[in-house]
Amino acid sequence: MIEEGLVVRTQSGFARVDTPSGSYTCRLRGKLKQHHKISDILSVGDRVKITVITEKEGRIDDVSPRSRVLSRLAPEARGIHEQVLVANPDQVLLVFACANPAPHLRMIDRFLIGLEKQEIPARIVVNKIDLVERKEIEMIFQLYESLDFPVDYVSAATGNGIPELRKQLSNKLSVMAGPSGVGKTSLLNALQPGLGGLVKEVSRITTKGMHTTQVRELFPLESGGWLADLPGIRSLGLWDIQPEELDGYFREFKGLVQDCQFNDCTHHNEPGCAIRKAVEDGRIHPGRYDSYIRLRFGEE
Ligand code: GDP
Ligand code: ZN
Repeated sequence: MIEEGLVVRTQSGFARVDTPSGSYTCRLRGKLKQHHKISDILSVGDRVKITVITEKEGRIDDVSPRSRVLSRLAPEARGIHEQVLVANPDQVLLVFACANPAPHLRMIDRFLIGLEKQEIPARIVVNKIDLVERKEIEMIFQLYESLDFPVDYVSAATGNGIPELRKQLSNKLSVMAGPSGVGKTSLLNALQPGLGGLVKEVSRITTKGMHTTQVRELFPLESGGWLADLPGIRSLGLWDIQPEELDGYFREFKGLVQDCQFNDCTHHNEPGCAIRKAVEDGRIHPGRYDSYIRLRFGEE
């Protein structure tokens, strides 16, 4: 029997595939494996065709083309290697807190740029709104709303904004990322009781010890859809963006850079720079320009 399904867990050469008829532990068909490591061609989020072998086991015969991937560059013996973290993600939630810890805007910009490069929609989730005046928070994050990034204001502690966020996750494959302490675990538990613990357990297996056992898992949402957690926020920062292409990933720079006097303008000290002019005119936020300069010239 052949069935179509979704890869919901990968671990050391095995994948768990959910199909309409059940959940199967699968290996890749030999032919698919010939030229690749399993982790190169199979990731959570992949849609696959399997042959059902027993009630619990199957074999993956075919992997469907991906709409997009969330990947990172991982150093390996043979050099830098693109490692797919999640296939076919619909969106990435970047979780920050309004306080404890205070939001790190440059970190947000770095993630947004990486996601822009990978063409993955981002949502910014601002947690702990119970700690700060709403006006104060919105003053910071309306910048991102004005750039057309959706921003969700929530409190895992009070439940404020949680139903609205839950709706945004429904029937989608969402990936959650954010620095530690911002309340991701609490947020997951607020969205769905017990979810935070499940996610934490998998990330604990993945990061313990010297030799990491790479376990990737999608967690089903009761309201439909799936959620994946990103192990180690640092991994999000490792995209291979060349300095010269950086300005192309700042949305508000687009449509302006061609007006710079020099076509290789770095938007730093050059005369006739349309970006610097836009910063002076208030069309580009000075904080975003500052992020650009720091990322472009490698300052922290
Ligand atoms: P994680 O490291 O991102 O998984 O964060 P945790 O969920 O473990 O939360 C870190 C700390 O922030 C804990 O002390 C939580 O109780 C607290 N916290 C989480 N969400 C909220 C919130 O909405 N409001 C407040 N005031 N504290 C929160
Ligand atoms: Zn310029």
